[in-house]
Amino acid sequence: MTGPTGSTPVSEEVGGAGIRPSEGPLAEVHDLAVVDLDGVVYVGPDPVPGAPEAIATARAAGLRLCYLTNNASRTPDAVADHLVRLGIAADVEEVLTSAQVGAALLARQLEPGARVLVVGGQGLRVALVDHDLVPVDTMDQDPSAVAQGFNPDLTWRLLAEGTRGVRAGLTWLATNLDLTVPTPFGPAPGNGSLVAAVATAAGRRPDLVAGKPQPEPFLDAARRFGARRPLVIGDRLDTDLEGARAAGMPGLAVMTGVSGVADLVGAPPACRPDHLAADLTGLLETHPAVEVTPGDPVVARCRQAVVAVEQAAADAVRPRLVVRRTGEDPVDLLRAACAAAWNWADAHGGGLAPSSNEVHSACRTFPAASRWAR
Ligand SMILES: [Mg+2]
Repeated sequence: MTGPTGSTPVSEEVGGAGIRPSEGPLAEVHDLAVVDLDGVVYVGPDPVPGAPEAIATARAAGLRLCYLTNNASRTPDAVADHLVRLGIAADVEEVLTSAQVGAALLARQLEPGARVLVVGGQGLRVALVDHDLVPVDTMDQDPSAVAQGFNPDLTWRLLAEGTRGVRAGLTWLATNLDLTVPTPFGPAPGNGSLVAAVATAAGRRPDLVAGKPQPEPFLDAARRFGARRPLVIGDRLDTDLEGARAAGMPGLAVMTGVSGVADLVGAPPACRPDHLAADLTGLLETHPAVEVTPGDPVVARCRQAVVAVEQAAADAVRPRLVVRRTGEDPVDLLRAACAAAWNWADAHGGGLAPSSNEVHSACRTFPAASRWAR
């Protein structure tokens, strides 16, 4: 959206890739929530505070849930058991892993009973068996394809065997391309890094990729539940929210995981959420509109919160997000900040995202704040 350059303000909701209002509580407007797990429902072994209660309330309001994870190492049974231990009702049919999506992709290309060399863990093996494919460990067993998914106990020998298969021209599936996985000690190599090792050695890229941000897992989830109005919920803009856009589904970003205020304010159109919330309690709320007045300065308003993008002064390097009114809800402030920043960025062909310590300070209550307050 480009605004007039003169003094006549145009007040309207952000169109295209922007923050949108909802006609009622999201749990009532939508018939399925496709929910990311790590950073949304739990962080490591522990539930995100308030998540079990919010999910129970949303479920009681009629919302169905599909828990979608890029982690291919665990089976859906193991994921459902984990959720139940956290006090969250979960049926195995409500869990969808990138291993399952990948096995379905391979099953469409291979004959039933075809052998697949597994460079991965138990979750991937079980998913292949569920799709009438036969997991094997060596090229000597004459596989028709290579399937690669995350497994913390993966060996060099298996990576070498996978490389042998890829170099031989077998169809190569990667469950996902996440470069890192979170650990208590910071990021560690994820499946994408291990796929890159094989790609470097073999000289080519995977033929099939199953996980987020591909649209396939979201479309699979909607098909499984016959959903007409699905909503994607996630903490990562570059997997959950980018995948939602690719699948043509609205997305809700929560602030309990990886992506923080700076990521949101600087988000390119392909990764922007439609809705923002501090955590999963945002499912139970009717989301407010954000009004944007384009021009110079760009001004965005969400209820009482007002944020402007003011062009750089002669001695400044970047335009600034200026908080004109904080309002009562830090999420409203963040909604206004995103709308203003995105409008400015789109009107200036991308470029620098407006920066603001004021916005960051006002949003310090978000759990993910430590990720940007560096
Ligand atoms: Mg996550």
